[in-house]
Amino acid sequence: MQVFPVFLPHHGCPHRCCFCDQRRTTQRFSAPAPPRIESSLADMIPEDGQGEGEIAFYGGTFTLLPLAEQEALLNLALGYVDRGLVSGIRVSTRPDALEAHQVEFLTRHAVTTVEIGAQSFDDRVLKAAGRGHDASCTLDAVERLRKSGVKVGLQLMPGLPGGSFDEALFSLLTAFEARPDFLRIYPTVVFPGTELESLWRRGLYRPWSLNEAVDICADMLKECRRHSMPVIRLGLQQVASLEHGGVAAGPHHPAFGQLVRSRLWFRALMRLLSPLKNKVQPFRVRVSKADLGDILGHRRTNIEKLRSLVPGLVFETSSDLRREHLTVADQVFCLDSLLQRNPKEERHESICG
Ligand code: SF4
Repeated sequence: MQVFPVFLPHHGCPHRCCFCDQRRTTQRFSAPAPPRIESSLADMIPEDGQGEGEIAFYGGTFTLLPLAEQEALLNLALGYVDRGLVSGIRVSTRPDALEAHQVEFLTRHAVTTVEIGAQSFDDRVLKAAGRGHDASCTLDAVERLRKSGVKVGLQLMPGLPGGSFDEALFSLLTAFEARPDFLRIYPTVVFPGTELESLWRRGLYRPWSLNEAVDICADMLKECRRHSMPVIRLGLQQVASLEHGGVAAGPHHPAFGQLVRSRLWFRALMRLLSPLKNKVQPFRVRVSKADLGDILGHRRTNIEKLRSLVPGLVFETSSDLRREHLTVADQVFCLDSLLQRNPKEERHESICG
């Protein structure tokens, strides 16, 4: 689904979660004035398009804006829906700003998708992050939206203070129970000027290393695939304000999503190739061209590690292979079936870089 984003950083938000710097993550420092929003929508949305996609108001707590402001923004977007240029409207907000009257207001104004910052389903972690709501509040909000026919996206932040690998998986499994339509997963990073930075500098918070974050997010992605749960984003989108000191600490990487997908491929290929350890004759694995980048890994790290195991390993691309499938000696394997092998050994094998 194509999204035409309008960023309203911190707009409407009465909170200061310990990790949050919306201005840096959205690279917007104030909410644009309505004429500016209008002209940027006009630039983004093609007049002769298919009418697919949603106008999305991101970065703030939409449902806590003054009602007149919500109404003005939604009416602006509704003009595009009425003309058949987009299919709907999306907003992002907090779980505790989705009471029945707020959901009813959204549906009355043709909002089709709501993205909720859930972050965690562990009340201790939510408290430590200063979120100001508990897990049951998120579950109730999702239920209300689903009953109203609104699609729901949940954002999770593994690695918050008090969090752990187990907590991240617990939060993910709880998110599945709420049955959202999609997830975003952002491992916690430390932004300058936040309370989290102060905790980190005082030695009261240890961010995950990049390797740890990739590993747990690979576990999470594997579970999402098993539950057919779409993940529309893994890691922060790279914007200029995140470069050169924009992140004080933590597992930020401009290609985080690729690192995670490559880690899954590494695990799958380890399953397949381990029996061939130290075989030096050419060993050909045919893969789909679309998967080759993830299979080789960022800066070819996967292939180098795999070749240290099987020196004769060669990857060839094949146009007749479906994505996420590979063949070895005319036998076809798929990524998911390989990942389901020997799950108990997986974590041990994957922490390799
Ligand atoms: S509720 Fe959202 S916008 Fe407000 S401080 Fe927390 S993360 Fe930032």
